[in-house]
Amino acid sequence: MVTAIYPGSFDPVTNGHLDIIERASKLTDRLIIGVLKNNAKTPLFSLDERVNMLKKVTGHLENVSVQSFEGLTVDFARETGASAIVRGLRAVTDFEYELQLAQTNRVLAPDIDTIFLTTNLKYSYLSSSIVKEIAGYGGEISEFLCPEVAELVQEKIDERRRK
Ligand code: ADP
Repeated sequence: MVTAIYPGSFDPVTNGHLDIIERASKLTDRLIIGVLKNNAKTPLFSLDERVNMLKKVTGHLENVSVQSFEGLTVDFARETGASAIVRGLRAVTDFEYELQLAQTNRVLAPDIDTIFLTTNLKYSYLSSSIVKEIAGYGGEISEFLCPEVAELVQEKIDERRRK
């Protein structure tokens, strides 16, 4: 039985993330999406909002669940009984950081492996931050997100504009 975690900020979850989630769920018996409470970043969406969005868009995947976590990814993996960490790779620019992260995690927890899934070419340019930037300038974001997520991003941006 293979349990894996897929950690990230998911602020918000994009079609690129969803593609990785769907593919990773086929490779594992149980996939737990770990939504990181990162005190260093100020997210657009609260932790609960990010968890709820992910639950909505992954509801069709039986072996996928969503949890929030704080602290080290390897500790979250241990707590959930996971033996693998899934990460997505988009471009060379991701590689250096992801390699460093994976190697550090391997020193901290030699029994837990990192599995890299390369992006679907369709989404290789896509990131949560670029979506937020486009939405902030009033651009169309429906290509990049599930309809329910796109609606929430729009609401949040409109709310910020009114302030
Ligand atoms: P983090 O803050 O940890 O980078 P993200 O939510 O930005 O969290 O990303 C989580 C994971 O998903 C990372 O491994 C990232 O490389 C991957 N990822 C993000 N966008 C895409 C995409 N468009 N295609 C494939 N993987 C992606």
